[in-house]
Amino acid sequence: PLVLGIETSCDETGVGIVRGHTLLADAVASSVDDHARYGGVVPEIASRAHLEAMVPTIERALKEAGVTASDLDAVAVTAGPGLAGALLVGVSAAKAYAYALGKPLYGVNHLASHVCVDQLEHGPLPEPTMALLVSGGHSSLLLAPDITADVRPLGTTIDDAAGEAFDKIARVLGLGFPGGPVIDRLAREGYRDAVRFPRGLTGPRDAPYDFSFSGLKTAVARWVEARRNAGEDVPVADVAASFQEAVTDVLTRKAVRACREEGVDHLMIGGGVAANSRLRAMAEERCAAAGITLRVPRPGLCTDNGAMVAALGAEMAARGREPSALGLPADSSLPVTEPHVPGGRR
Ligand code: ATP
Ligand code: MG
Ligand code: FE
Repeated sequence: PLVLGIETSCDETGVGIVRGHTLLADAVASSVDDHARYGGVVPEIASRAHLEAMVPTIERALKEAGVTASDLDAVAVTAGPGLAGALLVGVSAAKAYAYALGKPLYGVNHLASHVCVDQLEHGPLPEPTMALLVSGGHSSLLLAPDITADVRPLGTTIDDAAGEAFDKIARVLGLGFPGGPVIDRLAREGYRDAVRFPRGLTGPRDAPYDFSFSGLKTAVARWVEARRNAGEDVPVADVAASFQEAVTDVLTRKAVRACREEGVDHLMIGGGVAANSRLRAMAEERCAAAGITLRVPRPGLCTDNGAMVAALGAEMAARGREPSALGLPADSSLPVTEPHVPGGRR
């Protein structure tokens, strides 16, 4: 099916168009620069930016795909989780297009979309799929027997998300927002064994699949402060590399363990932090050693985009899942166990 997907859960206005597992267009307008001076995403600014970018981005995607709106078989949209006001802009636009075109509407889960997007890169997801989902707002290990209908959380962060930790450490080091890409770049010039920062929740009695990054954040901040107080230079690249090493070590260790214990021989990594080059390299190494096939989409498909929403919408349509009602609500805390919001619920 030919499906248009709309993503507005945070600061990216994303519109993607897919035909089955084939990506035809991926248009993204970001308001990230408008938030940089505040050190984080400001919801009201994000909503207004979505409103301005929505229709032009849809038109850009249609043009890029070389299709017209009437060719579409369905319209998909992120129904949650995310910022309520930001979600509302996408949901309203999707309803308007679906209604005007007389085509089914699929309100889908943002987290399931981050997983499903890999179909555009590596073909059909194996069933079940083990997914490590790491972004600015989420860090979870998910076991998905069916990404359109059955997603089970094995573990999640008990405090900060992995991307949030990157953003906070970037702030401590004075590197700006968003922190992930800057730390990734800087870390290549540093020694990852320079400082041994703590690995949260990796003790024998800790929950095997939960994550904790706030202790790491505090440890890095204290280490940097001690240097500054002593009047010494802070080796920024070394700190960035050592911090990144601690995060990626824990993420990959737990993901590989989950695969082994659940008997799953594939690991998918998605979400903005999956764009991290060290995470990709370390996961590649450890999966190879454990006989696990690794699937990570290219960086542009890991961060928020509309193609991932279209990918999940297309899968919903292909499997005959029940579309959403035109009364579809935006649900800022849509649980990961609900890959989409079928008709009745409103
Ligand atoms: P959500 O959490 O709802 O999925 P989000 O706004 O976090 O949404 P994403 O685009 O999935 O959106 O992820 C953004 C996060 O990914 C930011 O915290 C950013 O710092 C981080 N990130 C992006 N690129 C990298 C990278 N190369 N290395 C590490 N972190 C990165
Ligand atoms: Mg974002
Ligand atoms: Fe996201």
